[in-house]
Amino acid sequence: MNRNEILTSIKAKSPDVLIVGSGINGAGAFRDLALNGVDVLIVDRGDFCSGASAASSHMAHGGIRYLENGEFRLVREAVQERNRMIQNAPHLVKPLPTVVPMFKLFSGLLNAPFKFLNLLDKPAERGALVIKIGLIFYDAFTRAQKTVPPHKFEGRQKSLEKYPKLAQDIKFTATYYDGQILSPERYTVELLLDGEKDGGKALNYVSFIGAQGNFVSLRDEVTQQTFSLHPKLIINAAGPWIDMVNTTFGVWERYIGGTKGSHLVLNHPELREAIGKNEFFFENKDGRIVLIFPFYDKVIIGTSDLPIQNPDEARCTPEEEQYFIDLVSRVFPTIKVSPEHIVFRFSGVRPLEYMKAKTTGQITRDHSVKEDMAGNIPVYSLVGGKWTSYRAFGEQVADKIMAILGKTRRADTLKTPIGGGKDYPLLGLAQIEYIKKVAEETGLGDFIPRNLFERYGTRAMDVAKFIKATSAEPLKSLPGWTVGEVRFLVEREKAVHADDLLIRRSTLAWLGQVSRPLVDELAEIMSASLGWGAGQKQAEVTHTLKVLEEYHGVVL
Ligand SMILES: Cc1cc2nc3c(=O)[nH]c(=O)nc-3n(C[C@H](O)[C@H](O)[C@H](O)COP(=O)(O)OP(=O)(O)OC[C@H]3O[C@@H](n4cnc5c(N)ncnc54)[C@H](O)[C@@H]3O)c2cc1C
Repeated sequence: MNRNEILTSIKAKSPDVLIVGSGINGAGAFRDLALNGVDVLIVDRGDFCSGASAASSHMAHGGIRYLENGEFRLVREAVQERNRMIQNAPHLVKPLPTVVPMFKLFSGLLNAPFKFLNLLDKPAERGALVIKIGLIFYDAFTRAQKTVPPHKFEGRQKSLEKYPKLAQDIKFTATYYDGQILSPERYTVELLLDGEKDGGKALNYVSFIGAQGNFVSLRDEVTQQTFSLHPKLIINAAGPWIDMVNTTFGVWERYIGGTKGSHLVLNHPELREAIGKNEFFFENKDGRIVLIFPFYDKVIIGTSDLPIQNPDEARCTPEEEQYFIDLVSRVFPTIKVSPEHIVFRFSGVRPLEYMKAKTTGQITRDHSVKEDMAGNIPVYSLVGGKWTSYRAFGEQVADKIMAILGKTRRADTLKTPIGGGKDYPLLGLAQIEYIKKVAEETGLGDFIPRNLFERYGTRAMDVAKFIKATSAEPLKSLPGWTVGEVRFLVEREKAVHADDLLIRRSTLAWLGQVSRPLVDELAEIMSASLGWGAGQKQAEVTHTLKVLEEYHGVVL
């Protein structure tokens, strides 16, 4: 169903369950409920996955450092979920070797038990022994699954042989594996589209604005029309905005105490070569976590952890930018980074549970469900959680909701493939075979199917057939793309604005591949697909340039 068909259908018959917010937590619950035949609608006031879920560090990880807060249950659950993400969405989540450079042997040995007892109120650098103990636990949690290799410790000489640009005062490196989510946005959209195949309905650019009695009010942000529905229950999955949504129906409880985190994407071939295919995960002298990792041919650096009141104000500030730039020299002292290397910035708010912790690092990353009423309708707020544990969280929420609706579980998502991860060929030869098959069945030659496989996994066949049926004409401003592919993202993947295409359906903006002619060309194609008039087309171009500049520091 397209947007208008969904709007007509929900106005004719209200869904049983309304999910507010389509970040990964809302999308995970949606997927599970739809799979189990629950009549569910998910809405987002912006594009799908445009909140915290788009600002993550792209890691499917257990969170080794949460062990020192005593969060063993959380870490065990997250490493198991990391493995499931690698298995269920192999086109989007890849094993990532993670190197921890260490400058001290003992530091942190005393801090860890103090933190465990909540007695330490300052983050501090951890030494090699603490990291070794953490990694032993980490491996132990998933020994049976064998999705990624166990960790390895290496001394100074071996470490410098492997990474010659590392700081010479290094004492050890530890290498372990996590998963890298190449596009959190595509992951979320594919999850939602899978849920729609099972009967769920997903709408972006529809805001929840209030509830009274048995009714909720929603606003279509494309037409500005408001309308009401009467769902049996509501899931508030608005992440950092959960409290704001609850206040619209008079619930003033404070559940969220979010912290802001930003990242930079750098075009820096020397740094990219120095890190190779590895993430470098280390602590600054103040104990704050730093990540430097490969992102295609670029490098991402993050992240900060700063208190913030209003999540709408999250931006990467010049101070954060300078902090990240300075950090590189701590591990790679000969590599110079400057603002000219930055091609994209992103920032968001972790929807952490509100609690009185002494440091932001001590706030739990675990998830919980809070229950309230919106008029006569029960509301369940999904508080906290990590990207990595979304499936388990979604499953727990779906169990709760199905029990209330008197439904029994008929399927689970443990091994359910996600989007283009279905029947994904893992080996090089099998991948070549798949691409050949797409080329033969569509007559599109080799180049387009290869690109499509890279971007969409085994959804490449659907995209290729759509291109064949519409237009295989290359974009003038970006020859690796076709008019048909852009139309696919609009007509089959619900892109509403050009920034949805540049930032969330693709990684073009992330990789510094946006140009003014490209924005104009996309607006032209979208205009034909969505029936925009000349005035709207110009307004869309202006809007896209503003989003790129204001939120991501991309000035065209
Ligand atoms: C800097 C940073 C780094 C992180 N790194 C990692 C990591 O590497 N690995 C990991 O596992 N986790 C990581 N996390 C945590 C993880 O990203 C979040 O916990 C998770 O994405 C939260 O998802 P969510 O669906 O609850 O919230 P969100 O993704 O914020 O989704 C909430 C949605 O609600 C919508 N919304 C708000 N108000 C309304 C309304 N009135 N009507 C309709 N919709 C509304 C918003 O538009 C938004 O899309 C990180 C988080 C941050 C911020």
